[in-house]
This record gives sequence, C-alpha cells and structure tokens, in this order.
Amino acid sequence: MSSSTAELSTIPLLVLRSALSPSRSDPPIRRAPSHIRGQRLVDAHGRTITDLRISVTDRCNFRCVYCMDPSTQFARAEDLLSVADFARVARIASTLGVRKVRLTGGEPTLHPRLCEIIAAIRHGCAAEIAMISNGSLVTRERLRAWRDAGLGRMTFSIDSLRPDRFTQITRSTCTPEDVLRAIELAIDEGLGRVKVNAVLIKGINDDEAADLADLARRFDIEMRFIEYMPLDSARAWDSSRWVPASETRRAIEKRHALVPCDGDDPSSTARTFEFADGAPGRVGFIAPVSTPFCGACSRLRLTADGMIRPCLFSQDEWDLRSVLRAGASDEEVAEFLTDAAWNKQAGHGIDSPDFHQPERTMSAIGG
Ligand code: SAM
Ligand code: SF4
Repeated sequence: MSSSTAELSTIPLLVLRSALSPSRSDPPIRRAPSHIRGQRLVDAHGRTITDLRISVTDRCNFRCVYCMDPSTQFARAEDLLSVADFARVARIASTLGVRKVRLTGGEPTLHPRLCEIIAAIRHGCAAEIAMISNGSLVTRERLRAWRDAGLGRMTFSIDSLRPDRFTQITRSTCTPEDVLRAIELAIDEGLGRVKVNAVLIKGINDDEAADLADLARRFDIEMRFIEYMPLDSARAWDSSRWVPASETRRAIEKRHALVPCDGDDPSSTARTFEFADGAPGRVGFIAPVSTPFCGACSRLRLTADGMIRPCLFSQDEWDLRSVLRAGASDEEVAEFLTDAAWNKQAGHGIDSPDFHQPERTMSAIGG
C-alpha cells in the first residue's frame, strides 16, 4: 500500500469531492503533519489561515452580470448547514487560529436567521465578525440588530452610480440610492470603517472609476476596486473584459492624486491608498488577476452547503457537511479542517494555460 493510500484509509471522516469532470483523477489527499493536525490551520506552503469566510446562503435577489446568471440553480434546502453548524465550525476554527469570520453569500441578508447566526458565532468565539452585502435589504433596525448580536464591520458592493447601468448590471429593482443609503446607515450605526466594493467591466462601467472613488471622499470609507475574476456562472469572463487595477488607478489619478497607505496587512486582499490632498477616505485595489496575492493568502471558505474550499479557485472541495452529520466530535472536525487547510493550493493559476474555471461560481462559494 502506498503511503498516501495508507493515510487515506485512516481518515474515515475525510471526504474530498472533486468538482472536475470524472475523467480527471483525484489529487492526493495529504494529511496535515501530526504536530499541526487538529491544532493549527497552516498549509503545506507555509501560510497560516486566520480568516474564515462563511457563505450563509447561495441565494441572491440580484443577478449581477459578472456573478450570477438568471438560470442559476441553488443548493437544495436539505443540504444547507444549520445555524448551529455555522456557529460550531466558526468556534472550532477559532480554536485553530481564525481571528476573523466574514459572512457572505449569495446575499447573506436574505438568510431568515441571520441575526441568530451572528449571535451564535459571537457566543462561541472571539473572532471579529464582518459581513458583505449588496445593501438592498439593509434597514437601520436590521443593522442595529446585527450589531447588537455581534457584527463588527460591514462591506457593501456597488458597481455603478447611474440608475440605468445599475439595473443593467444587477438585473434587480434596487437603485444606487438604496445602496448609498445602506452605506450611510452602517456608518451611522458605527459598523467599523465601512468598505465598499466595485467590479469594473470593460465597456460597461469602466468609465466610473473616479466617480466611485469619490464615494470614499464623500463618506470617509474604503472604496475598493476588485478585478473581474473568472468565477461568473455565465462563464462569460474573457481577458478582454477585465480591467487591470493599474488602469483603474490611472483613471482615478486623473482626478485625484493617490499616495500608498503605510502598513497594509500583507495578508489583506487590498492595496490601499489615501488622497494626496488629505481628503477623507481611502481607495483600495484588489488585483487577483494582474497581481495575485496568493502567497500571503490567509483564507479558508465554508459554503452554505457545508463544503470547505481552501481557495476560491479550488477544483476540489472538502465535504464537511457529511462529517458534521456523521456526528463527528470537535476534535474530528478540527482534524478535518486542518487537513483541508494543509491541502490549500499554492495559487489560483488564472494566468496558467492549464487554468480551468471552477464549477462553483463566486455566489456559490461565497466571495
Ligand atoms: N451579495 C453580496 C455582495 O454582492 O456584496 C456578497 C456576495 S458577493 C459574491 C461578494 C463580492 O464578490 C462582491 O463585492 C462582488 O462584487 C464580488 N464578485 C462577484 N463575482 C465576482 C467576479 N466574477 N469577479 C470579481 N468579483 C466578484
Ligand atoms: Fe448577488 Fe452579490 Fe453575486 Fe451580485 S455579486 S449576484 S449581489 S451574490
């Protein structure tokens, strides 16, 4: 028996699902070394995992053109994790070194028990809890309830300030004004330094970089531009449509000079800049396509249906739901998580000729 086969046979609870076609042979599943297994989330490339992204739902009330095709199929209700499952995984992950939990989706604010999820995570661990939302279902009352339950920070997404374009991109009945109101409310309710994301797509909204950057000055927020990634369910991404961060920066600098901020966390996805004229707010660039930051990645992802994905671009996922439903102890869940983290791939490989877009899309993984 080969050593990898021997290892496999001793891990009854570890289930790897290959998201690729059946013709592809499964990659070897490597167990974390014994001094790490069940103790710390570290991968075989020396990276430490401190950030858990939990997708609480894969459903959304938007159908953004770069994310979710109108024909998108959602997970079956019976496959979704429970409030207790989310909280348990967060608690165990925090004992393994996770310091930040970000709730995402789909649209997390659609989850009917979101407040309970936040409270249960807060009750079980000391990690900071953040959430990202499209802002459409945010009210002052809900923000207060989430904050009082333990939510620390909010990020929103807005891709256009022009109502017609906003509708074209999101295919929703929401307006930019609705999202701007949500941003103001979150600031007012003290939900940290609010961050706002935008994805620019060539020929659609790439002429709005400077207008969107002005939101940072207006609200004293961090306005972040994310490069469009090949994770859309329509599989319409092609290299002629994404806008490199360098181009976005040049467009903003035609209006406002930017100076790099000192002390960006190396594991942070964004490189941030202040305005040279001293105006409030910051601009951030998240450039996974032009400037991959995989070497400093500190993230692990849990999908709404209970799969662990060590990378957005993982071709494989780890079936934690089966482990939870098989009655695993906390120690066994911890071992499962440390094994999954150990197998995190070195990089996303978007620039490689062998790159395959993963089957799961951004909304199904949790962005
Ligand atoms: N629905 C929420 C929202 O839109 O903020 C949370 C989930 S969404 C998947 C999280 C972030 O992923 C958003 O800022 C969205 O713009 C970004 N996103 C979605 N698809 C993307 C893609 N193909 N490339 C880059 N960013 C993407
Ligand atoms: Fe929904 Fe967010 Fe995807 Fe837009 S980006 S479709 S709001 S999950």
